[in-house]
Amino acid sequence: CGIFAYVNYLNERDRKTILNTLLTGLGRLEYRGYDSAGVAVDGDKDGEVLIFKQVGKVAALRKLIEESKTNDMNRKFLSHTSMAHTRWATHGQPSPTNSHPHRSDPKAQFTVVHNGIITNYKELRTLLEMKGYKFESDTDTECAAKLALYIWDQQKAQGKTPSFTSLVKAVIKELEGAFAFIFKSVHFPHEMVATRRGSPLLIGVKTEKKLKVDFVDVEFVVDDDLNAFMNTEQNAQPKIRRTQSRAFLSEDGNPIPMEYYLASDPSAIIEHTKRVLYLEDDDIAHISEGELHIHRLKKEDGQSTIRT
Ligand code: GLU
Repeated sequence: CGIFAYVNYLNERDRKTILNTLLTGLGRLEYRGYDSAGVAVDGDKDGEVLIFKQVGKVAALRKLIEESKTNDMNRKFLSHTSMAHTRWATHGQPSPTNSHPHRSDPKAQFTVVHNGIITNYKELRTLLEMKGYKFESDTDTECAAKLALYIWDQQKAQGKTPSFTSLVKAVIKELEGAFAFIFKSVHFPHEMVATRRGSPLLIGVKTEKKLKVDFVDVEFVVDDDLNAFMNTEQNAQPKIRRTQSRAFLSEDGNPIPMEYYLASDPSAIIEHTKRVLYLEDDDIAHISEGELHIHRLKKEDGQSTIRT
């Protein structure tokens, strides 16, 4: 029912601060109603993910986290990707297992939070179970995490390493229904992918430095390979025109401290920043190295790749 995610780049943050940011964000979404809540943050080793989930109020989740003695809350991260969710159960009763985030496997190679309903989840689940993927929950959501792993495994078996963006693109091609998704992956530490169709999702950008390029009125184009260019780029063959930027540059062209706040509802973002952009249907936003790139699934991308 509510999504909140936080990506921190170049400003050192400790785990406690990150968790507090997530729980405060979830608190702003409480008015929408929900039955359970959960978060995923980076673990101690690169690529490790810590997931906390609880039925009931955000306060109950906060208590669970505070009582967990296993993790050093003062551990510092130079860059960090984290996500949080409040659930209004549509498929699978409220329970810790059915709460989000959902993972692709015990190693959490792919972790997702989702708002909405995947209407073809039964078909996808049957297919993935036939291929040997084991499900943990009764939700429609889990098939998206498993699907990401399945496509990853398939590509790797062919000697290919897909980009995070192309992987998520391949996943949403298979999905029917309504969704807003955040993806995190041990294969792409410090990166986050967000996408939506039918359910709202927006991205807030925060920096204290003056930006040379700001997304508010910059146009960018997306080419066939889903590379985004500024419209100043020579030889760019525009396929899609958007009035948002691809990246944020300081006046000297160096990367700058940047934080991203993603949410299903602006009420969770406005206390952090007023620089906000709304994703459109089938947009795929990729945050990496402090930059934000937005790609779009195109009509001709429509055919399925997983049933062959
Ligand atoms: N359909 C998903 C579930 O039941 C997501 C529900 C939501 O938007 O909170 O877990």
